[in-house]
Amino acid sequence: MLQAKHITFSYNKTTVLEDISFVVEKGEHLSIIGESGSGKSTLLKVIYGEYDLDNGQIFWKDQEVLGPKYNLVIGYDFMKYVAQEFDLMPFISVEENVGKFLSNFFPEEKKQRTAELLEVVELTSFAKTKVKILSGGQKQRVALARALAKQPEIILLDEPFSHIDNFKKQSLRRSIFKYLKDKNIACIVATHDKDDVLGFADKMIVLNDKKIHANNTPQYLYSNPEKPLIASFFGEFNIINNTIIYANQLQVVETSTLKATITQSYFKGNYYLVEGNLNGNKVFFEHHVDIDKGKTVFLKRID
Ligand code: ADP
Ligand code: MG
Repeated sequence: MLQAKHITFSYNKTTVLEDISFVVEKGEHLSIIGESGSGKSTLLKVIYGEYDLDNGQIFWKDQEVLGPKYNLVIGYDFMKYVAQEFDLMPFISVEENVGKFLSNFFPEEKKQRTAELLEVVELTSFAKTKVKILSGGQKQRVALARALAKQPEIILLDEPFSHIDNFKKQSLRRSIFKYLKDKNIACIVATHDKDDVLGFADKMIVLNDKKIHANNTPQYLYSNPEKPLIASFFGEFNIINNTIIYANQLQVVETSTLKATITQSYFKGNYYLVEGNLNGNKVFFEHHVDIDKGKTVFLKRID
């Protein structure tokens, strides 16, 4: 189990994290979400032992994670970290990068392990390719495979799919997160993409203004978004009579007390996001077809 206990951290004099506490169980998947600049990357680096804390402690099981002041070599064998700016060796091949930290005394095992990992990140056909000529997304996948090579107990992933295009992203996410679950490897994933969280994370922490604003399951936080920041992570929403209502919770009905004039319809694939004016405020709802500008409709909350 990873335990973060009352962590406070500042860059020079600027405090970025204040009194942060949480736990990650063995094999658990924790997502850290928050706006850009909220401290997600900093939190991962601090957990990895890259910086010294102002206050607080971090433990993996009984072992305290210590910063550079107390540790000559940053990092531990049980923990791996894939930075937002991954750093690979450009002039050697994909498979050499992945196998870099595996022992040469077991060539057969090394070969098998490398092949297994390349399959997880869907790069088998690039095994012999030099990393230098890969795209950003392909490099990111090599970095993921390399971090997994020595089978850590916990892995820290910073925006792990940010450079990967939509064609590959869905299947890669499933493949990586399934692999981690199958091997019982805990993970902490910093992201601003709800698709990295929904369907995969056991727990989700919302970082805002240096603090943890919520720590719960994605299901709970989706159903009980106590703050607009939390609702905005999941999708388009409205605040009507002081209540947060997602766009997909409003339905057009024959008549109701919510009368809106349509201003715009946006095609979203299997639905339209319709924008209207409700008593001088913008309102958003989902509808199966588009609605003409200027038309009036009545809306009702459905659950
Ligand atoms: P996120 O990953 O959520 O976008 P970061 O952890 O990168 O947020 O940044 C949190 C805050 O710390 C930001 O205000 C950022 O400008 C600042 N920051 C990040 N890295 C450094 C650094 N090396 N030195 C000083 N300030 C930094
Ligand atoms: Mg970041």
